[in-house]
Amino acid sequence: MKDQKNRHTGKEKADFSRRDFLKLSKNIAVGAGVAGILPSMIWLEDGVAAIPVSEGYLLVDTKKCQGCMSCMLACSLVHEGEENLSLARIQVVQNSFERFPVDLTISQCRQCTEPACMEACPTGALHIDTKHGNIRTINEEECIGCMECVKACPFMPGRAIYNDKKEKALKCDLCADTPYWDEPGGPGGKQACVEVCPVGAIKFTKDVPKQKGDEGYVVNLRGRSWRRLGYPRR
Ligand code: SF4
Ligand code: SF4
Repeated sequence: MKDQKNRHTGKEKADFSRRDFLKLSKNIAVGAGVAGILPSMIWLEDGVAAIPVSEGYLLVDTKKCQGCMSCMLACSLVHEGEENLSLARIQVVQNSFERFPVDLTISQCRQCTEPACMEACPTGALHIDTKHGNIRTINEEECIGCMECVKACPFMPGRAIYNDKKEKALKCDLCADTPYWDEPGGPGGKQACVEVCPVGAIKFTKDVPKQKGDEGYVVNLRGRSWRRLGYPRR
């Protein structure tokens, strides 16, 4: 309760740079409030509310990716204690009817500046974690398993997934909360998928990617040696 109260004080304004916020009009903010988004917002002057952007993002290079799925297994392992592709918060999808370079896609959570999943959550379980670099994350205890966030994600495959066993939704937290991995995560720490990828096809960045389309998130991570291996440099 105390945390929530502090989000609305003048002190809070001084703690964050204005450039770090996406500003929303009062009408949008009030509308979103019905869905439980208000506690995650920071109020500026004159009824203007802001959603703080995440301080970290995952970028991927699908041309570099070998499809080994180590990233998916590592993600599930560090969070759930089991190697289960259905519990991975990053999805690698291979289409055997297509050929390189469009035979494979990596779908990582985009930590959207305007998170539809958070706006859809009726309980506020899906919230902005200001203690961990403003990641969009799920408080498992508050999740009622309604799957509204799963349905609201505008991307395919959806970046929020459902754990049938626990009857809770899951999404990428940039490894801020990894009960089975003793490493500090989140924007200030390490991400299991980045660490485990044998070819460096996933990268962490603090810069906000371009939000429209995929080009901000699907990038070229290839160095000079990749041309010698027969991969295109561009
Ligand atoms: S950053 Fe962590 S939570 Fe996110 S996809 Fe990678 S391993 Fe999973
Ligand atoms: S670990 Fe790296 S190479 Fe393997 S599937 Fe994931 S992104 Fe691709």
